[in-house]
Amino acid sequence: MKKKIKCPHCGTQTEYSEANEFRPFCSERCQLIDFGKWSEEEFRVPDRENSAPQYDVDHGNPGDFEGLNQNLLH
Ligand SMILES: [Zn+2]
Repeated sequence: MKKKIKCPHCGTQTEYSEANEFRPFCSERCQLIDFGKWSEEEFRVPDRENSAPQYDVDHGNPGDFEGLNQNLLH
């Protein structure tokens, strides 16, 4: 018996089985889009009033690594 579900992203009826490697999504596209949405929500800064999508340059600051290493050495 094949189980059918609705793609959480676009609502398309899709087969929930090992044949569908993107389950519960209908396609890789929907999987990636939905995954991106979740990560975005996770890292969202709530107190920023400007809602325009901007990439935070603070992430991945190489200076943080230096400070971390110095803390470990002392
Ligand atoms: Zn879909």
